[in-house]
Amino acid sequence: MRWNHMFIPTLREAPADAQVPSHVLLLRGGYIRQLAAGIYSYLPLAQRVLNKIAKVVREELDGMGAQEFYLPALQPAELWQESGRWEAMGQNMFRLKDRATRDLCLGMTHEEVFTAIARDELRSYRQLPQIWYQIQTKFRDEPRPKSGLLRVRQFTMKDSYSFDMDWEGLDISYQKHYEAYCRIYDRCGLRYRVVEADSGMMGGRQSHEFMVVTDAGEDQIVYCSCGYAANMEKATSRPEATNETKGPERPELVSTPGQKTIEEVARFLQLKPSQQIKTLVYVAAGKPVLSLVRGDHQLNEMKLQSFLGVEVRPARPEEIEEVMGAGAGSLGPVGVTKLRILSDLALRDQMNLTCGANRDDFHLTGVEPSRDYVAEYADLRLVQAGDPCVQCGNSLAVSKALEVGHIFKLGTKYSESMGAHVLKADGKAVPIVMGSYGIGLERIMAAAVEICHDSDGIAWPFSIAPFHCVISVLNMKDSSLVEAALKSYSLLNSLGIDVLLDDREERPGVKFKDADLIGIPYRINFGSKKFAEGKIEWIHRASKKTDEIEVSLLEAKARELLRENGTP
Ligand SMILES: [Zn+2]
Repeated sequence: MRWNHMFIPTLREAPADAQVPSHVLLLRGGYIRQLAAGIYSYLPLAQRVLNKIAKVVREELDGMGAQEFYLPALQPAELWQESGRWEAMGQNMFRLKDRATRDLCLGMTHEEVFTAIARDELRSYRQLPQIWYQIQTKFRDEPRPKSGLLRVRQFTMKDSYSFDMDWEGLDISYQKHYEAYCRIYDRCGLRYRVVEADSGMMGGRQSHEFMVVTDAGEDQIVYCSCGYAANMEKATSRPEATNETKGPERPELVSTPGQKTIEEVARFLQLKPSQQIKTLVYVAAGKPVLSLVRGDHQLNEMKLQSFLGVEVRPARPEEIEEVMGAGAGSLGPVGVTKLRILSDLALRDQMNLTCGANRDDFHLTGVEPSRDYVAEYADLRLVQAGDPCVQCGNSLAVSKALEVGHIFKLGTKYSESMGAHVLKADGKAVPIVMGSYGIGLERIMAAAVEICHDSDGIAWPFSIAPFHCVISVLNMKDSSLVEAALKSYSLLNSLGIDVLLDDREERPGVKFKDADLIGIPYRINFGSKKFAEGKIEWIHRASKKTDEIEVSLLEAKARELLRENGTP
């Protein structure tokens, strides 16, 4: 491809609202343009990258025996009503009506459609297992699209679904995906961590996320040198024992005028935040519940939600006042009998604690959980950096990360609600045991930019770069130079290297800047002076390392490159 003929609209500066590197550089490099909030057009360079990612994904999925489908993005409401997700997806789903006022939606994921095909077509255990996939456009009515391709309303996903007769079969299909995903990210040049994840709205038992550590990510992951790794939503740590000194025989009421926060009460009563109970009122499926964590800990709402199995939200001040008879600064579990009390494990077996007295401006000291109130115990706290690892006790680390893939053991949630059964060898009908597996293609592209860039621009991993190398002709008026560059261009192309020939009538400085910005892994400079000595420059984009080589050695150099990176 010749630069003169290519559409690469590079920009000096990115719009002010572009903050994260992938957003800035994909705009400036002429890869993407915004059409509307969270909706992007992919220009030729981006499409080349996405095609290469899709090729890697297809090769690995086909290689593990998965079969490619292509299902409609436009779907009837009835399917989603069967699975119960027409309601559950809420405002995240794009919905529309056809001319006969039938309800339709734009698919966010395809469990329903794939399960419907399985239900209608699969009859016998002999047809299982099946793994079906597609690479397709998905839609999500994201309330706050931002960060370029990181939070969007239309995107491309590889989604696959496994259908097995039993859980043992699912374990095998799941493991196949796990391993294929590792190969896909390795081949795309990403450094990533696999973390335990919450299943969220998908339902199911086990799930893992594939995460790229970057400050642009909106997730937080927790990990340890022993190998433990989990999404913050699910992460757990080893509880430490504190407050094991016996207090008074019964709680004592103390006046705490105007002292509302944990810190205020700690100062006023001369105790540590860890000696207090933090009492929070949540509304779960319309009902108020009390949740308790230690004063110096934070509640993890996702854990509360998973424990209760329904969505939760913090109660509003007037709701708190109504059920508790006191404001948020004076709450506690003692004397509460009408509400479910859910307590974090760190409060179990503790003594001599302080909490609100459910009376404004009063607190109770000397509270002993096992003696003074009845609670259900669960792991509800948000892990903090430095907490002891649940597996080995070493300090846990916390990093921001970007999700590039997610795999779920769905089990029978969809096959049961939608009636997808097969007959076993004994003639008995059983629901198909399913898994669901997703990879965001643009996420891989954006994650690669996040971890592979410098102040001059992108430095693509070789395997997914839009071109492997760019030949920069530094003087287009030197006809013998141009001729030699064209010859090299044909040679590299014939070897299977994707070459961009910068044949623009531009100053060398402009060509170098543009090449660095769009991030082609190797640049080959054809300059008149060096070429007169039979030499060209070979520059590695990421390291900026420059080698002078004989023109005659270009073929050998190119073959070496292909060997190092695996033939594309
Ligand atoms: Zn550990």
